[in-house]
Amino acid sequence: MDADVQGKQREGSTEDLDAEVIVVGGGPTGMVLAAELALGGVDVLLVERRADQSMPGSRAGGMHARTLEMFDQRGIVERFLAAGEPTQTHMFGPILLDLAGVPTPHPYGLALPQARIEALLAEWVAELPVRRRREASVEGVEQDAATVTVQLADGTALRAAYAVGCDGGRSTVRRAADIGFEGTDATTSYLLAEATMTGDPPLGFTFDDQGRHAIGPLADGAGRVRLVVQERPPRPGDRPTAQELADAVLRVWAEDFGLHSPTWISRFSDAARQATAYRAGRVFLAGDAAHVHSPLGGQGLGTGVQDAFNLGWKLAEVVRGIAPEALLDTYHRERHPVGEQVLEGTLAQTAFLATDPHGTALRNTLVGALELPAQRDQLAGRFSALALRYDLGEGHPLVGRRVPDVALDTARGRVRMFALLHAARPVLVDLRGTDAAPSPPEALPVHVDLVPARADAAWELPIVGAVPAPAALLVRPDGYVAWAGDPTDGSLRAVLGDWFGPPKAPPR
Ligand SMILES: Cc1cc2nc3c(=O)[nH]c(=O)nc-3n(C[C@H](O)[C@H](O)[C@H](O)COP(=O)(O)OP(=O)(O)OC[C@H]3O[C@@H](n4cnc5c(N)ncnc54)[C@H](O)[C@@H]3O)c2cc1C
Repeated sequence: MDADVQGKQREGSTEDLDAEVIVVGGGPTGMVLAAELALGGVDVLLVERRADQSMPGSRAGGMHARTLEMFDQRGIVERFLAAGEPTQTHMFGPILLDLAGVPTPHPYGLALPQARIEALLAEWVAELPVRRRREASVEGVEQDAATVTVQLADGTALRAAYAVGCDGGRSTVRRAADIGFEGTDATTSYLLAEATMTGDPPLGFTFDDQGRHAIGPLADGAGRVRLVVQERPPRPGDRPTAQELADAVLRVWAEDFGLHSPTWISRFSDAARQATAYRAGRVFLAGDAAHVHSPLGGQGLGTGVQDAFNLGWKLAEVVRGIAPEALLDTYHRERHPVGEQVLEGTLAQTAFLATDPHGTALRNTLVGALELPAQRDQLAGRFSALALRYDLGEGHPLVGRRVPDVALDTARGRVRMFALLHAARPVLVDLRGTDAAPSPPEALPVHVDLVPARADAAWELPIVGAVPAPAALLVRPDGYVAWAGDPTDGSLRAVLGDWFGPPKAPPR
């Protein structure tokens, strides 16, 4: 057993846990969740099958704007920006979702291979009090009224108050918790590879009756390329052989351009499945464990990371005894509909990009409509997740939306709204001015930061446009507005209790 796990293991009650929360799977979702839990003061153990963060090839090619904003909220976005390339994204084939002019500090997507994203996340996690257990494969999960037991392949049983499956599309945790995974079967598959071609392959897209295929150069050396070959009907197996790759290249391009030395061959499909519940008692699912879909549109990694930002602070508050247990049910309530929408968007894109007569007719009929500015903006707001609104009830138009990164004049000078979220604590921003009597501090749970400030009278929201700045607003640690309004009319108190526990709840 790892030394850092050993110290906590004793037999018996909930006080003898190996960790307060066990996160299964150290991909992008699991790492962000572990970091958020550590920031929330939770003793977290991250259990991962891989020996280190290195991965052959790279699945995701980048992130959309809201994921960048969430890293900005934690003060780590510069690391990603320094490593990647800002880019505007194409969706539905030719539709350019240009975010220039959208009110966000990051009006672009970031092209950055998943391997680099994971390496940067691993650096962040290493700076936080997260215990890690590598080369540990989870085989089962059981729970009783007070604890979860996570069973490892080497026979070790680890106990925690909660466990979260961030263990990818084939999630062991999801199966063990007996959570359904429903959706649509694959209609097409894609063989993906990184290899060397000594010849002169045609770079770019090639179309035939099986679909669209592509060869693109890789930055890491002469003749190294990334290949995508579409297969219709879909072919089975997510680890195709070198022979399958060679056959596929010959089938599409009729020559192999001196193809050799593949370093990564993989297969994905447009199957779209979602967990029927994101929570079963003390077990949660996040990321690909909760939703899989075609990578068209590049939303998988970002959706998982945003699941983690949504769940992390909630779980931390409940584990620390600050907020009521019911807070945990809001995770499914908020994130399941988002996952549903992501699945729907990828299915729509698959249909739209099909090279059969139906797909061609759909494109020819609708592409003009999708290029209209209003329609394009709707798509940009949806795919970047900047227009996301959780259903947190009626009220000010900010409620349920991500807080805009407006400039605030505070007693400590001018600060960005996002900078207030670096510590992953809830913030009550009182905009009645730095001289006004602040909202009564006795009504605040002690872990809620109170920031008296002044700001512009109107704030710009993506898609929505300008909204009046409220007198005060309560921002959750994940950057969504829980409440906005008049801090003296009594409405704040009830919302505070729901999200952040009773006034002056002591931190542990
Ligand atoms: C070809 C392709 C292109 C893509 N492009 C994009 C893109 O451009 N943008 C985007 O946002 N998304 C993209 N995606 C999706 C993205 O790769 C995934 O959504 C993302 O990796 C999900 O992260 P995750 O942490 O939830 O799961 P995973 O990345 O699958 O991580 C799961 C982790 O759990 C570990 N694990 C699994 N089982 C166990 C076990 N039993 N015990 C212990 N550990 C376990 C694994 O080793 C792994 O580290 C793409 C996907 C593919 C296939």
